[in-house]
This record gives sequence, structure tokens and C-alpha cells, in this order.
Amino acid sequence: MPILKILKRTALGGDYTGRRKNIKIGIPKVLNIWSTHRFWIGFFKALGVPDRNIIFSSNTSEEQFREFGKGRIGMDSCYPVKSMAGHIGELIFTKKVDILLVPQIYSLPSFLKGHVLDCLSCTRVMMGPENIKAGFIKEQDEFLKHGVIYVSPFVSFAEPHLLPKQLHKSLGSLLGLSYEETKEAVKIGMEELNSFDREMRIQARKILEECIEKNSPCLLILGRPYHMDPGIGHEIDVEFQRCGYPILWSQYLPTDSDIMNWLFSQEISEGIIKSPFDISDVWISSYSANTNEIVWAAKFAARFPWITAVIRLSSYECGMDQPTYTPVQRIVEYSGTLYFKFGDLDETKPTGSVRIRVETIDYYVKKYFQQIVKRKLERLPMSLMPESFKSLYKRKFYEIPFASSP
Ligand code: SF4
Repeated sequence: MPILKILKRTALGGDYTGRRKNIKIGIPKVLNIWSTHRFWIGFFKALGVPDRNIIFSSNTSEEQFREFGKGRIGMDSCYPVKSMAGHIGELIFTKKVDILLVPQIYSLPSFLKGHVLDCLSCTRVMMGPENIKAGFIKEQDEFLKHGVIYVSPFVSFAEPHLLPKQLHKSLGSLLGLSYEETKEAVKIGMEELNSFDREMRIQARKILEECIEKNSPCLLILGRPYHMDPGIGHEIDVEFQRCGYPILWSQYLPTDSDIMNWLFSQEISEGIIKSPFDISDVWISSYSANTNEIVWAAKFAARFPWITAVIRLSSYECGMDQPTYTPVQRIVEYSGTLYFKFGDLDETKPTGSVRIRVETIDYYVKKYFQQIVKRKLERLPMSLMPESFKSLYKRKFYEIPFASSP
């Protein structure tokens, strides 16, 4: 069915203003949509698409994949990419969307931009949309059959000045957009994304402050943004929260200058690094945005006293994580911080083994917490400790017995 026919039989027909109010846009909640979703919401809302019509797929699950994605994978890949088939199938078959937006994300927004060589996505993130699409057209074109227009713009978040052109090219004629209108919507989308990131970092700082005040440990999850998806990360973070530990995610650590100064100023003055966000001392091939952030977060955790343990998550067949295992473990363990890895995560939730490991980790965190904090504090310049931390900090905290659960 040609696109014009689809336009006539769906909400896409009619004038453009009405079109945007009625159109339903489906977005599969996969891969780096997890770190850019606020942009897409802000962008489409700015163009007049109501909230309720911006429809994300459900969290990843075995059932979702079995029901909507099985038999549609034509290549060997990591589970986060494969799972995309279930998300796309769910949106086509059950959500009655008019447009299915599956961006090919070439590069990502990153706070490390300017301090690293590049901020690219994993190549599988880039090519995933085209690869998975093939599984929905090989026998019959499911998009045409269900009246769905598949749109897959190439987007470079690390170069936001390119976004208006990229999005206008793929959505302009469908939504009747002028270039200026697209540009304005991109601006609003980026503002929404930045404000969400800021808020997450504020919350992370609050967690750290609470740990200082209560003299209690917190844990850092080192993973890709989509490990926040319960079907990809298998809620390992939640298991630790059940034990009472506050959890920080590597993507949303605070980057305030007072904290950066405290943690990194010594190495800057010794000429080891050029700025707090420089990772060239430990990671030379700094091309991948998510990898860079994982490495930087490992450095942060290695220095921040109350981060007692780092929990590394990694998916089965992740070629990007492979070379980072040893350096990241060394960065963390060198500081005396505990390090645990949950690797090869795939579609099966390893509930039993996760519980047993969480219990073991809980034991070690409780046992070594005071010692770890003390050792890490001794390495940092107390005179540079942020003022807000100083007022919460009890100088002899390590003499207070750590009696109860955190
Ligand atoms: S970074 Fe790893 S898990 Fe993520 S898409 Fe690439 S290969 Fe897959």
C-alpha cells in the first residue's frame, strides 16, 4: 500500500494542524531511547502532538519478545538489540500507531563532550533499527498491512545543530513542518532533555549527602542506559534497594564544580588529567559516549568515599563492554572500593542466582564499609571538601559502629 493511501486511511489524513493533534506516534523503548526519551517527548509536544499520543512500548519482557518479536531476528546480536523486535511488534500489532519512530542514533548527548575524542553510539545501536525492520518485511510488509509509517531518522545528538535538518528531512512532509518550526521543536526537546538530566543529578547529589549525613553506604550501578529497563537489567538495582541501599546510576552522577574540585583537583595539579572529565589517563579510545561515561563513573566511584561498591551490569554478547572489563575493575578496586559484575545478562531473569549474590555483596558491604570510607577520605584533600558536605560530615564517623542495616 503506498504511503498516500496510508495517509488517507489514518489520522495522518486531512490538514496538517489537525493531523498533529490526532496522530499517534509509537516509539520503541529500547537502547538509547532510554537516555533521550525526554527529547522526543519535548520535540513532539512542541509540534502539537498531545502527550497521550506519544506512545512508548512497554518494558522489555520475555513475553513481549515471544509474542511480537520471535522469528523476526535475522542476525546474531546482543539481547538489547534483539529485544527491539518485540517492542516494534507490540507497537504495530497492539497500539494502533500511525507513525513508528525508530531513530538511528549516531551520536549521543554527553556531559563528557569536549573532553573525549567523540560521543558515538554503539554501532549496533546505529544499525539496529534497519536490521530489525527487515524482520517485519521479509514475508509480508507488516507496516503497510497495519497502516503504519516507519520513520527512522539518522540523528546526531552530539552535534545538535544537525538535528533540525535530520528531523525535518524525515518528518517534514509527513507532519507538514517548516524548517524553522522543526528547529524550534528541537530546541525545546533539548531543553527538556537537559532539564531532566539536571534534575536527576540533583537527586543523585541528595543521595550522596544523605549517605554522608547518616554515615551509610551507597552503591553505584555501572551499565548502559537501557540496563534501567527491568527486562534488560533484570532489576538487579531493585534487589539492592530491597536491602536498604540507595542506588546511583553512572549516567546521572552529580557533576557540580565543588565535587569535581574535591575529587580531581590533585590529579589536575599534578598534570595527570586536564579536567575533572578527562579520562585519557585510563581510557585512550574515548569514542563511544556510553563507554566513556562508564569509565568516568568508575573514576568517580573510586574517589567518592561513601560509594562503597560498584555493581557492573553487562549484556550477553556485548562487544563494546568486553575491552572495558579489566580497566574498569582495576580503577575501582585500586581504590579499595568493592567491585562486582553481573555479566552476560540476556532475556532470562536469573532471579535465584541474583538473590544469592546480592546477599553475599550485602555482607561484604556491611563488613568493609567503614574501612573503605576511611581509606578513601584519607586520600582526598579535606580542605576542598564541598561546604555542604562539611556541614554533614562527622569527622570521627568511622568510630561509630555500623550496627544496623543501611
Ligand atoms: S553496547 Fe553492547 S549491549 Fe549495547 S547495543 Fe552495543 S553491543 Fe549491544
